[in-house]
Amino acid sequence: MAKKRQCSFCGRDESEVRMLITGLNGNICDDCARQAHDIVVGSPMQTTPEFNLKNLPKPKEIKEFLDQYVIGQDEAKKTLSVAVYNHYKRLKNISEGHDDVELEKSNIIMVGNTGTGKTLLARTIAKMLVVPFTIVDATVLTEAGYVGEDVESLLSRLLQECNYDPKVAETGIVFIDEIDKIARKGDNPSITRDVSGEGVQQGLLKLLEGSVINVPPYGGRKHPEQQFIQVDTKNILFICGGAFDGIEKRIANRLNTNVVGFDAVEKSARVDKGNMLQYIAPMDLKAFGLIPEIVGRLPILTYLKPLDRLALRDILTEPKNSIIRQYIYLFKLDGVDLSFTDDALDFIVDKAIEYKLGARGLRSIVESIMTEPMFEVPSTEQKKLVVDKEFAKKQIEKTNLNILSRQMSE
Ligand code: ADP
Repeated sequence: MAKKRQCSFCGRDESEVRMLITGLNGNICDDCARQAHDIVVGSPMQTTPEFNLKNLPKPKEIKEFLDQYVIGQDEAKKTLSVAVYNHYKRLKNISEGHDDVELEKSNIIMVGNTGTGKTLLARTIAKMLVVPFTIVDATVLTEAGYVGEDVESLLSRLLQECNYDPKVAETGIVFIDEIDKIARKGDNPSITRDVSGEGVQQGLLKLLEGSVINVPPYGGRKHPEQQFIQVDTKNILFICGGAFDGIEKRIANRLNTNVVGFDAVEKSARVDKGNMLQYIAPMDLKAFGLIPEIVGRLPILTYLKPLDRLALRDILTEPKNSIIRQYIYLFKLDGVDLSFTDDALDFIVDKAIEYKLGARGLRSIVESIMTEPMFEVPSTEQKKLVVDKEFAKKQIEKTNLNILSRQMSE
């Protein structure tokens, strides 16, 4: 006699339930399926910090992860790894109810020329993070009441990253790019209203200091009827980045005026003039136009080095998702074996330097070399393509790199 089918969860047999769904090694009735659904939907999201804080990545692991995607910039990587690790540790401490010693949060500021990897570092960190993370551009922020976004919009974005759960948002990380663009312009701030400068810094200060902010969940001022969500920024880690064009001069001036006296000559001889950013100090940020209170709230100051020829060459091929690897993969998907000769790669780097395009330009240069083969090859029987210097040169001559370099500098 055939065995009666019954629900493997509640034990009722087929005749007692409305529906019995059969799996490989068991069955589930409609009631149990509904209950299972409720449990799954009601369970804490995988991103809640409590859930993940048990497996904290150590600073070395964070750096190793960054190493896979970002070339060089060891100083900045170490600083970021430690800061993010400490951020987690603080959260863990709080979630476990320890309060013997209050661990203060240390926001970070990264200074480095444009295109040296500040945003890339932030994005890469975001890839491995288990807390909500958002990147915002300081240039879009304006003082309340002016066209643009209020500083609170930073928090709206963070809320969006975690399903509008303020408790989760309060453990997040915000990367504020181009912080230098809201520096005070000119030495006398009181004469004219400085819409995008000091006013925005004052607004930001409120966030950096740690306060309870009323956040419009959908950002902007387009939805006046929306209910505010209160977010306490005390535990949100802020990482700022900026190019601070021209700050090297201020650093040099400070070093010059500081090294007066007995061993001045010896000291100035040791200064590495090729990389002044390594000597950056909080007072240089103040001299640049950040208000002292903001500088005080960004106690960890680190720098990114300008990328030299060797670094640019490595950026082409070394990162896990390097530009060259991406093109090789694109061709592989069509069954074509693509390779680049060393002199072709050197040529690409030369062009990036010649046109002052930096790391950002590498992709555009490779793109202009590869456009024609990407158009032609899929329609042929070709199974192999070797890009050598001659080929690269020929393709580049067809495109107008001057236009490219103009676009890049815009
Ligand atoms: P920044 O924020 O400092 O202006 P980005 O991080 O946006 O610069 O860098 C622009 C692009 O240049 C990145 O998307 C990346 O492709 C490349 N790049 C820049 N610096 C590095 C680096 N150190 N390692 C690998 N790629 C880099």
